[in-house]
Amino acid sequence: MKQRLTVLGSTGSIGTSTLDVVARHPDRFEVFALSAATQVDLMLAQCAQFKPRFAVMASAPHSHLLAEKIKANGLKTTVLQSPDALEIIASNDDVDTVMAAIVGSAGLAPCLAAAWAGKRLLLANKEALVVGGDVFLDAVREGAATLLPIDSEHSAIFQSLPEDPATWSQRVEKIILTASGGPFRTRTPDSLRDVTPEQACAHPNWSMGRKISVDSATMMNKALEVIEARYLFGLTPAQLDVVIHPQSIIHSMVQYRDTSVVAQLGTPDMRVPIAYGLAWPERVESGASALNFHALSAMTFEAIDDHGHRDRFPGLQLAWDALAAPQGTTAVLNAANEVAVAAFLDRRIRFDQIHHLNLATLEAVSPSNPDSLNALLALDAQARSVAEQAAGRLAA
Ligand code: NAD
Ligand code: MG
Repeated sequence: MKQRLTVLGSTGSIGTSTLDVVARHPDRFEVFALSAATQVDLMLAQCAQFKPRFAVMASAPHSHLLAEKIKANGLKTTVLQSPDALEIIASNDDVDTVMAAIVGSAGLAPCLAAAWAGKRLLLANKEALVVGGDVFLDAVREGAATLLPIDSEHSAIFQSLPEDPATWSQRVEKIILTASGGPFRTRTPDSLRDVTPEQACAHPNWSMGRKISVDSATMMNKALEVIEARYLFGLTPAQLDVVIHPQSIIHSMVQYRDTSVVAQLGTPDMRVPIAYGLAWPERVESGASALNFHALSAMTFEAIDDHGHRDRFPGLQLAWDALAAPQGTTAVLNAANEVAVAAFLDRRIRFDQIHHLNLATLEAVSPSNPDSLNALLALDAQARSVAEQAAGRLAA
């Protein structure tokens, strides 16, 4: 029986890499539905190649345009257009696996729908878990869903942990997430005032969407990943450590009680964790090139406390601060950061103001234990509106 797949965010960096892996294994995978925001022509090409039953666009005008083009090209895909279209394609009875590759908290509701419906949920959309927290994990438990990480660090950790999660807290001393340090690792903190979106998006090792690229430049990506790891692996925040490893060869590590360290290594290509999630517990060809140890010159490491990294990347600490604060604080931090990154990409605020905006929003919004999807969405909206006002003041 083929695995039937919905890809949320199919036109993005993770979405297209997912379809690249899927296309290598027509005997294993079949595409049930695709979704995207605005790229109608790429979506049309994906519909022609993968022949999904459904396609979803984020707005009515894009849906209509896609529907016209699908008809003109004689394709059979139905363009679903309703407010809950993403939830429908994420939870349909005919779907086995959902790749969550939308960027931002916009992906939360379909993730929860997939979780409640008991799907195999491949999570690239880290913001959904950072916002959803325990509500997300409860949905996975209640729906008996299988949650598999796609983020390369979390895939590496998952591959380095024992199979039985019940043993993790007893056996594991700590998790060490590696971070490349992004494009600004060696710049003086003061010079970051004036960097442009183009410079921030030029990542040395990975080619990714613009939002996560900016997050890598501020290291807010690592902050979100620390929170993601906290929820995925259930250890205490004090057991989560970060080290800078500029070559991105070790994707993360697990240190055990006896000091043994187990790591996962590979070339920086997201098709590896994607293929792992798709095939787990099996292994299939991913299309990535293998690491060549004979040509590998160096693997280096830098402590966060050295080289001025705390001044350069002040946002990283917010992960532990938010995890120590009341439930919902991670959702506030995520909302602030989404608004701040968008404002920076629009050239409304400076790069160094991303952190100021995150701090100002965390100070202004006190979450009151959000325990449902609606409560989370309301908190997300409230934090966004506070962050937008702060961005307006900074831009003025
Ligand atoms: P991207 O910007 O390249 O793609 C995002 C996709 O989501 C696109 O298909 C877009 O059309 C869709 N989308 C955006 N906003 C939407 C909305 N409001 N409603 C519906 N669809 C929407 O981003 P990406 O780099 O592929 O990242 C996707 C997710 O995966 C992010 O959460 C990111 O943090 C995570 N991730 C990405 C990488 C990577 O290498 N790119 C690695 C690890 C984790
Ligand atoms: Mg990552």
